[in-house]
Amino acid sequence: MTTHPLFDIAGRTALITGSSRGIGHALARGLVEAGCTVVLNGRDQRALEKAAAELGDVGDVGGVGAGGAGVHTAAFDVTDGPAVAAGIADVEERVGPLDILVNNAGMQNRAPLLEFTDDAWRQILDTNLTSAFLVGREAARRMTARGHGKIVNICSLQSEVVRPGIAPYAATKGALKMLTKGMCADWGRYGIQVNGLGPGYIETELTRPLVEDEEFSAWVRGRTPAGRWGRTEDLIGALLYLASPAADFVSGQVLYVDGGMTSVL
Ligand code: NDP
Repeated sequence: MTTHPLFDIAGRTALITGSSRGIGHALARGLVEAGCTVVLNGRDQRALEKAAAELGDVGDVGGVGAGGAGVHTAAFDVTDGPAVAAGIADVEERVGPLDILVNNAGMQNRAPLLEFTDDAWRQILDTNLTSAFLVGREAARRMTARGHGKIVNICSLQSEVVRPGIAPYAATKGALKMLTKGMCADWGRYGIQVNGLGPGYIETELTRPLVEDEEFSAWVRGRTPAGRWGRTEDLIGALLYLASPAADFVSGQVLYVDGGMTSVL
């Protein structure tokens, strides 16, 4: 089997925030299979080590402090500016210069706006939006100096549309779409492409309550032209494309991977 050279990303180094489970972990697997050195991130070091071990069959697993190719871990809270600065510096020192950053860490909080507290608002804004600014800025400081880099922000179907009870989440993801375009505008001249990847409804821990709600689950299947929930593996191809030289002139876009859901009423 031959792969077109435009899609060859073997040897690149990637950091994926929030990759101890779910979508981030599947994206990490895809990058490892494509020959990248991958750094997993989350707040829980033990969960990260378990997640790294699960990728062991597709790459050499390097633990904390390990160097060279393979899978590495970097525990830090993406909402904490000083921790992000120290975390990125540490990753580059231990693992090497970052070629690819995936801003994936995120959370959901389903509640009517009238019941949404100030603290809950700040928490979801910090986790889903401020994090991409903090990690993106820190990575881009280095990527701009080197003259190349790929940043992929994990947006959402809800960057475009919203349902009752999910307004704060949709607000963060809509703003993340515009932050993606803004990063593209600011950093394009330095050889950095910034794009969004917008998943539809994907089965993960985050959406487990929705999957287990049979009425809602059936609504998702019926509303999605593909007729099913998304799987985390469905997102890998789009990430590999956006991270590859094939997308060197693609920037500021959001690629929706949603079985067609954003296109229908
Ligand atoms: P999960 O809840 O399964 O995973 C979230 C990941 O983010 C975990 O690894 C978690 O690790 C990490 N994380 C959360 N907060 C922080 C933080 N402050 N600092 C560092 N890491 C953090 O979610 P999904 O995999 O479902 O979602 C991943 C992304 O995809 C999110 O941005 C989400 O909004 C987006 N998305 C998901 C969809 C879906 O249907 N599942 C649809 C559209 C978008 P830990 O808690 O250990 O820190």
